[in-house]
Amino acid sequence: MVYRKEIQQFADMILSTDKIVAFTGAGISAESGIPTFRGEDGIWKKYDPEKVASINSFYENPANYWEFAREFESKFLDVKPSPAHLAIGRLERMGRLLGVITQNVDGLHQKAGNTNVVELHGNTSVVKCLDCGKEYRREDVFQMLNDAIPPVCECGSVYLKPDAIFFGEPLPQKALNQAIELAGKCDLMIVVGSSLVVYPAAEIPLIAKRSGASMVLINLDATPYDDIFDLRFYSRASDVLPDVVEMVDRKGL
Ligand code: NAD
Ligand code: ZN
Repeated sequence: MVYRKEIQQFADMILSTDKIVAFTGAGISAESGIPTFRGEDGIWKKYDPEKVASINSFYENPANYWEFAREFESKFLDVKPSPAHLAIGRLERMGRLLGVITQNVDGLHQKAGNTNVVELHGNTSVVKCLDCGKEYRREDVFQMLNDAIPPVCECGSVYLKPDAIFFGEPLPQKALNQAIELAGKCDLMIVVGSSLVVYPAAEIPLIAKRSGASMVLINLDATPYDDIFDLRFYSRASDVLPDVVEMVDRKGL
């Protein structure tokens, strides 16, 4: 097995604490079939984020987002958690996890059984009218796209927006506070599938490090913060997490 010694060391780190926090990014969902933003097959190679995912462009013309959503996001309505998501779900059931902090907007951690999930960038499963506040299920809005782009709310507004953060919007304050609190009290932070270049999300691992947590990175590519990690796996998340959690389960008996 690649990284055999490191997997054992990782398992021992997990076994030494029940105060673990996982911090995840788009890489963990790549194995569920959702492309990441950056990197080889990244979404931004094909679409211009300023046009399709910035709040200014949304206010100018919400069709910019909805055309992108119809072509791109509609493919991912039925995605399933990856083996890495499931391994993190298993860590919670083993009583070792304080929670998951994610930059993802796909809801896959909840589908993997995690109950304490802090979503720093919101979630696309709910769509809200910015004028009257009415909430729609994403599937229903995708149906509406067959009749009109942009979709129109019952109140007549064209500003139906997914409950996820667009470029130019602040992070939800409550989620940010919860993330800072979790990062400050964990003994071990496991960072999975994040390029650590999107702020302020990328500062969360630094808070954990400063508070004295041990740090593990599982990411295909190097990040600007690799030197804060005690253990680094430049691997696919599903090539590391299921094995390590299995080992913890066996050793922990
Ligand atoms: P990112 O696209 O900037 O970086 C993804 C990282 O994951 C890369 O560094 C890459 O090396 C790594 N990676 C790719 N495949 C991997 C795998 N199989 N295993 C482990 N690592 C892998 O993503 P980010 O850091 O999350 O930040 C960008 C933004 O992307 C966030 O704001 C997030 O909201 C958004 N996003 C979310 C989704 C989603 O919800 N699934 C998808 C795309 C982007
Ligand atoms: Zn409305």
